[in-house]
Amino acid sequence: MDRRRTSNLLLCANSALTLAAGLAAAWGASPRLAQWLWITGALPVLAALAAGLISRILRRDFGLDVIALLSILGALALGENLTAAVIALMFATGQALEDYAQARARKEMSALLSRAPRTANRYEDGGICQVPVAAVNPGDRLLVRVGEIIPVDGIIISGSAVLDESALTGEPLPVRREPGDTVRSGGTNAAGPFDVLATTSAAESTFAGIVRLVGTAQQAKAPAARLADRYALLFVPLSLAVAGLAWLAARDPARALAVLVVATPCPLILAVPVAVVSGMSRCAARGVLVKGGAVIERFAQARSLFFDKTGTLTGGRARLVSIEADPRFGSGEVLRLAASLDQLSQHVLAAAIVSCARDRGQPLSLPTGVEERPGAGITGTVDGRRVVVGNHAYVLEFAADAEWSGRFLQRMGYEGATGVFVAIDGTMAGALLLADEIRPDTPRALRLLRKAGIERIVMLTGDRRDTAETIGAVLGVDAVFAEQAPADKLNAIKASPTGGTAIMVGDGVNDAPALAAADVGVAMGARGTAASAEAAGVVLLVDRLDRLAEALHIARRTRAIAVESVALGMGLSLAAMAVAALGYLPPVEGAVLQEGIDVVTIVNALRALRIAPLRGGRGSLDAAHADRLRSEHDELGPILDQVRNAADRLATLPAATIRNELVELDHVLHDRLLPHERQDDSELYPRVAHMLGGDDPMAAMSRTHREILRLARLLHRMTEDLPPEGPDTAAVRDLQRVLYGLDAILRLHFAQEEEIYHSLADAA
Ligand code: ADP
Ligand code: MG
Repeated sequence: MDRRRTSNLLLCANSALTLAAGLAAAWGASPRLAQWLWITGALPVLAALAAGLISRILRRDFGLDVIALLSILGALALGENLTAAVIALMFATGQALEDYAQARARKEMSALLSRAPRTANRYEDGGICQVPVAAVNPGDRLLVRVGEIIPVDGIIISGSAVLDESALTGEPLPVRREPGDTVRSGGTNAAGPFDVLATTSAAESTFAGIVRLVGTAQQAKAPAARLADRYALLFVPLSLAVAGLAWLAARDPARALAVLVVATPCPLILAVPVAVVSGMSRCAARGVLVKGGAVIERFAQARSLFFDKTGTLTGGRARLVSIEADPRFGSGEVLRLAASLDQLSQHVLAAAIVSCARDRGQPLSLPTGVEERPGAGITGTVDGRRVVVGNHAYVLEFAADAEWSGRFLQRMGYEGATGVFVAIDGTMAGALLLADEIRPDTPRALRLLRKAGIERIVMLTGDRRDTAETIGAVLGVDAVFAEQAPADKLNAIKASPTGGTAIMVGDGVNDAPALAAADVGVAMGARGTAASAEAAGVVLLVDRLDRLAEALHIARRTRAIAVESVALGMGLSLAAMAVAALGYLPPVEGAVLQEGIDVVTIVNALRALRIAPLRGGRGSLDAAHADRLRSEHDELGPILDQVRNAADRLATLPAATIRNELVELDHVLHDRLLPHERQDDSELYPRVAHMLGGDDPMAAMSRTHREILRLARLLHRMTEDLPPEGPDTAAVRDLQRVLYGLDAILRLHFAQEEEIYHSLADAA
C-alpha cells in the first residue's frame, strides 16, 4: 500500500517538474528540448499504466485505465507531446488524490488498529517489568498506568478504574469499573493506575479479535469494483465509438484524442470506493464494525430482518426470579450445581446464572467432562454428580419429567420469562425462572429500523414458543419462530422470501450458521461470542441494538452518495465528451477539465464521512444523567416487587397481620416512591419536554403520575380504614385490585420513562 503511494507521488513529481521545465524551455526558445522533456514526463506514467493494465488482465480483471493509456499513446503518436505530458500529470495527480481520499476515508479504522497495545507492565518477583504483550499469560498481574491501553482482557484487582472505551465503542463518556469487574483490552486508562489480573493471552483478547476483524474488513474487495466493472464494460466501447466517430466526421485524429482525454472513468473507479470506505469509517466511529464494502452495499438493500431473542432482543443480563426445586436437593444446591457447570459455557444465560450464584455467596466447583450443545444446554460432572442444565426438551433427554414442570412451563409462558432446567444424577431436580428483560433500546431500535425501510421483522429463538410469543407480542414483530435449533435458524434464513436482502442479528454460537448464511450477519460483539463475531459481516462493538438502525441508515446514505457521485461524474464526463467531439474542447484544456471532474466527484463521495446521525428532537440528555435516572429506577425496583408480593400474598395472609404489612408498604410508597415521581414531574419532565419539542409531549406521562398518586392515596385511605381484626374477604379483594393496578401502572410507567431517557441519551 505504502510503496504504491510513494511511487504515485514520484510519478506526480516527475510529471509536474518535466512539464514545467518543458514550458520554460519552449518559452526560452529551445522547442526541441521542450518536446523531449514532455516525453520524459509522459513515458513513466505510460509505463505504469501499461504495467497496471497487464497485471489486471492477468487477474482477469477489467481495467478502465485503458482509456488513459490510449490517450497518452494517441497524443504521443500525433506528436502532441505537451498534451501527453498534461494527461500524464493529471493521471498521476488523480492517483495521488485517490490515495489521499482512501486514507482519509479509512482514518477511523486505521486509528483503531494503531492503538493496538504492544507492551504490558507485569509484576515479577518484587518489581514491575515491561514485557511484550505476546508474553502475557492468563494469571499474570499487570499494572495499567494512566493513559495506557489495557493490554489484555482481565479482572480489576486493585484500584477502581475510569476507562475511555470510545475507540472501541464510540461512547464518548468514560466508564467506571470497580475491583472484581472485568475489563476488555483496548480501553484507555483515563484516571488513576490500577492492577488487573490477566484472564486471556493477548491473542485471545477482545482487542486482538477486533484488530483481526478490521484487518479482514480492509482487505475485502470493495464492491466498487463490481459496480464499476459493470458500467466500465459499457463505458470503454462507448468512449472509443464516440472518439472514432468524431475522428471520421472531422477527418482529424486530434478530435479522437480530445474525446478520449475527457472520457474519464475516474468517477467509476474512485467515487464508489471512496464513498463506501467513508461509510465504513463512519460506522466504525459509532462502534459498528462493517467487514468490507460489499457488506455495506448489501446492508443498504436490506428489506427483512431476523433477530435472535436471548442476548440480542433481550439484554441477557437475566435476573433470577425464583427457583423450583425438588426438596431432596434444595434450591441452594440446584443453583450451586447449575452455576458450577455453567462456568464453562459462553451462553449469555450461563453468565447470568453464574453471577446470580456468586451474588448469593454460593461456592462454585469446577466441573469435568463437560459437553455443550449450543442453544440447548450443557452436561458435565460437578463434585462427583452428573449435572445437566438447559432447556426443558434437552434436560428431558437425561431425566424423567417432574410433576411440577407443567406448572413451571405455564408460568414461564405467561410472564415471557426464560426457564433453565436442572437434572442431577438422572433426576429432574429443579428449574430456575429467569426474567431476561427486553433491552431498553430494543423498541426504539425496531421503530428506527422500520423507518429505515425494513419491512419484515422476524424473531428466531431457541426458547419455548409461549415465552417467545409473549415477548414477540410486546415488541410487535411480524413473526415468531420458536424452539429453533441452529440448523432450523439457518433454514429459516435460507427460506426467507427474496426481494431485498435479509439481515440476521444474533449473539450465540448457535446463531453462527445463520449469521454466515444471511446476506448480512450482525453479531452482538460487545458481549456475544467470538464465533458469532467471526461468522458475521457486521459486528456491534457496543452493547446497544439501536446502533444497528444507525448503521443501516449510514449504509443507505452511503450507497445513495456513491450512486449520486457516479451519476454526477459520468454526466459531466459525457457532456465534456460531446463538446470535445464537436471540436470545442482541445486536448490540453480537456485534460485539465477532466481533473476538475475527478475532484468534484471525489469531494462529493467524501460527504459520506459526514452522514448525520439519526435523531429527532432538539437536544439530548447527557449519558451520565440518563444513567442516574436508570439507577434511580433500579433502586426503586424492590418497591415494585413489594407491591406485587403484597398483592399475591394478601389472600393467604392471616387477616390480623395484613394491616401491618400494608402500613409498612404505605410508608415506603410515601417516603420513597412518591417523592421520586413528584420530582420527575416538576423538574425532569419540563426539560425532557423541551428536548422532545412539540406541544406538551409529556402530558400523557404526567397523567400517569396523577393516576399513581391517586392509587397510592386510595391505598393509604383503605389501610387507615381497616378494622383492627383485619379486612373481610370483600375488602381483601378490593385491596388486591388496587395493588395489582398500582403494580401494572408502575411497571409500564418505568419502562416508558426508561425508553424516553434512553432515546434522548443516544444523541451524544
Ligand atoms: P436464543 O435463540 O433466543 O438466543 P438460545 O437458543 O441461546 O436462545 O437458548 C435457548 C434456551 O436454551 C435457553 O432459554 C436455555 O433454557 C437453554 N440453554 C442453552 N444453553 C444453556 C446453558 N449453557 N445454560 C443454561 N441454559 C441454556
Ligand atoms: Mg442468543
